[in-house]
Amino acid sequence: ETITVGELANRMAERSADVVKTLMKMGMMVTANQTIDADTAELVIEEFGHRTVRVSDADVEQVIDSVEDREEDLRSRPPIITIMGHVDHGKTSLLDRIRQANVVSGEAGGITQHIGAYQVRAESGALLSFLDTPGHAAFTSMRARGANVTDIVVLVVAADDAVMPQTVEAISHAKAAGVPMIVAINKIDKPTANPQKVRTDLLQHEVVVEAMSGDVQDVEVSAHTGQGIDQLLEAIALQAEILELRANPQRSALGAVIEAKLDVGRGPVATVLVQNGTLKQGDIFVVGEQWGKVRALINDKGDRVTEAGPSTPVEVLGLNGTPEAGDVLNVVETEAQAREIADYRVQAAKDKRAAAGAATTLQELMAKAKADESVAELPVVVKADVQGSAEAIVQALEKVGNEEVRVRVLHYGVGAITESDVGLAEASGAPVIGFNVRANAPARASANQKGVEIRYYSIIYDLIDDIKAAASGLLSAEV
Ligand code: GDP
Repeated sequence: ETITVGELANRMAERSADVVKTLMKMGMMVTANQTIDADTAELVIEEFGHRTVRVSDADVEQVIDSVEDREEDLRSRPPIITIMGHVDHGKTSLLDRIRQANVVSGEAGGITQHIGAYQVRAESGALLSFLDTPGHAAFTSMRARGANVTDIVVLVVAADDAVMPQTVEAISHAKAAGVPMIVAINKIDKPTANPQKVRTDLLQHEVVVEAMSGDVQDVEVSAHTGQGIDQLLEAIALQAEILELRANPQRSALGAVIEAKLDVGRGPVATVLVQNGTLKQGDIFVVGEQWGKVRALINDKGDRVTEAGPSTPVEVLGLNGTPEAGDVLNVVETEAQAREIADYRVQAAKDKRAAAGAATTLQELMAKAKADESVAELPVVVKADVQGSAEAIVQALEKVGNEEVRVRVLHYGVGAITESDVGLAEASGAPVIGFNVRANAPARASANQKGVEIRYYSIIYDLIDDIKAAASGLLSAEV
């Protein structure tokens, strides 16, 4: 695994000139465009007082700007929750009800605006941060951009409808991200509600709820009557406690953009969810390809605040351009630093676009796997025309692999390849495999734009053969 000096500087939010200088001191004469190996990069990172974070076995070493947090500086932080589930199962209603329940419970100030996330207090006193965009499209596109902001997924399943295709997708997305789930069995007020069917349906998707002796919490709720909402909030608080979510409010802020827009009166405005540290008025920051200086911070109640700590969503004013959802915000020391990093990123993005077809192909995945000594995973998304084929393919794929590589089916389903499939594939660097199905037009466009590989097959044997070849690194050059 290698990294260019410039990219390393970028990921640490340091100036590349400083990184070059440090390397010179270590006896290496390199320029910003040259690559160094992972071991050298690690030394540099330590030299700068940052730390390396191994995101997952198959993943490349990822450097997150993070001054080593001392144990004694860590404090527990509120969980960040995304609500997912099938269309019409009540995600929006539930978000509205939770927001409303909180206003009634007398929290100071009503919630007057939708800024992309809001905080509520559970009865026991625990603060909870909810992302206001339900569904897995937002969740996945954020993840694809490197922003893993969600700690807990609330899976909404309507009791009168049980598990539906998007329920299954949501389960796959949460599992692929390694985020724990809580099941909210909604519409329990309906006479046709059958919560037990929801629980047994979920078993087929390896989600075993507590009522079925599993360890996934399930709560019966009604977004209409408000029944069970308090219990749901407590269940989330409990899950958060188990996760021991902590952050260091002392350090400079690191956050993720969850919404951004160009406001006529206020200029570029971004809602940032602070992930670590405290964002303060006057802070200089770089966010994606933009930079700025915090002119004002506005919380979810519409009030101006002077700072925002871990897991707090705030609107940030003072940007010099509009960033994108999923962009990471880093506070830096000087404007010069901010400008240099932003400029670097603009250039890097241009270079990337120029190197068109930076696709995740099977070959690239193999190259990655080879560079990594440990067991690599070849992630795939599978769509087929009928359930029987989908299952047969998944079974066969799971048998493929050896000591070095294993195939991991992130999601499988029946029907055309959709944007959701492409999004999931992008977030995990996987190809999408279509068996006797095609991608619909939006999915094709999205795959082109994101550089996700879609492969079509009509013979299972060919499909398995290709994946086998990929898994053994023998994929022929013409693929
Ligand atoms: P979303 O597509 O998942 O965001 O679902 P919505 O929140 O838009 O809800 C879909 C429909 O279900 C709407 O007509 C809601 O009024 C209705 N609905 C949502 N929650 C409940 C509930 O708890 N009980 C009943 N009876 N209807 C509900």
